[in-house]
Amino acid sequence: MKAVRVHTTGGIDKLTIEEIPVPVAKPGEVVVKNAFIGVNYIDIYHRTGLYPLALPVVLGREGSGVVESVGEGVSDLAVGDRVGYLGSHSYAEYNAVAAIHVVKLPAGMELEKGAACLLQGLTAGYLVFDSYKVQRGDFVVVPAAAGGTGSLICQLAKLQGATVIGIVSTEKKVQIAKDNGAAHVLLTSADITAEILKITGGRGAHVVYDGVGMALYEQLRKSLGKRGMYVSFGNAGGLIEKVNPADLIPKCLSFMRPVLFQYLETREEVLDLTSRVLPLIESGKLNIQIHKIYDFDNVAQAHQDLEGRGTTGKLLLKL
Ligand code: NDP
Repeated sequence: MKAVRVHTTGGIDKLTIEEIPVPVAKPGEVVVKNAFIGVNYIDIYHRTGLYPLALPVVLGREGSGVVESVGEGVSDLAVGDRVGYLGSHSYAEYNAVAAIHVVKLPAGMELEKGAACLLQGLTAGYLVFDSYKVQRGDFVVVPAAAGGTGSLICQLAKLQGATVIGIVSTEKKVQIAKDNGAAHVLLTSADITAEILKITGGRGAHVVYDGVGMALYEQLRKSLGKRGMYVSFGNAGGLIEKVNPADLIPKCLSFMRPVLFQYLETREEVLDLTSRVLPLIESGKLNIQIHKIYDFDNVAQAHQDLEGRGTTGKLLLKL
């Protein structure tokens, strides 16, 4: 089968499309014949080596398709099921995935939406519902508010009754962030702390959901109000390498660094979160926007576009 592998970390030239054997389902796994593959920022961290993996490695953390075979001990999935999944090595025609991370897609959900909604949708879900539980009336700050994950955080926070302050890098993305529910949208070039304090009447924000990292860390931390929560969940703009607890003291701030794959370690955790997020997608309350579907062989272009900050919403590869 065809797969996208990385032998040495680096730029998009390190993405190689190769023939490798079709995997076999081990106990507790199913093999999925992929139809669509989600492209996520974590794939870039894996390609560049920011998050090191044993090499060579097939990239990719999510996909959708049809169950091709079922390993020993798997009772709630069957050959032919239409599924979406979280897992490793999804940039391939087939993938062997732990069954606990596989979700049967609702009857009316297209396979492309199945690949587009899980990693980013469940991330937005655990962030807004659990990591810091957004309450009606909260001021919620969301950098990369037109991006794949950010756009869903904005929507969910608004559904919870919050006032969302989005941050984007270009004028073109301002309207997209507003369409996602941001009541206020700031450009990254603005004096972000001053603007957020102004919008919040001087109190500061209740929570920041930050997938950008170092580039905005100082400004965002200073824009939190008393007892505010800094939820750092990504590093598209550089890793926050040091958090000085002394900086948290004046306003009794909390700092959290959660990760979806550690958050969802059991079948119960996966089913609980999907039962809270998928119905919102099915009912259209949470709108998954697909930026572009790339041919599988065009994976390098997808990475270049995502890193180049020109994309809004979800990127998919199609087999
Ligand atoms: P996005 O679609 O949000 O794309 C990344 C966005 O980050 C860009 O569009 C850009 O928006 C912004 N950005 C800021 N600085 C830079 C930079 N220097 N280079 C590139 N982009 C930059 O990607 P994803 O939705 O896939 O991921 C968003 C973040 O969420 C990532 O950090 C990812 O690792 C994290 N994540 C974390 C999870 C977790 O559980 N911890 C799970 C899922 C995602 P703009 O130009 O408007 O600033």
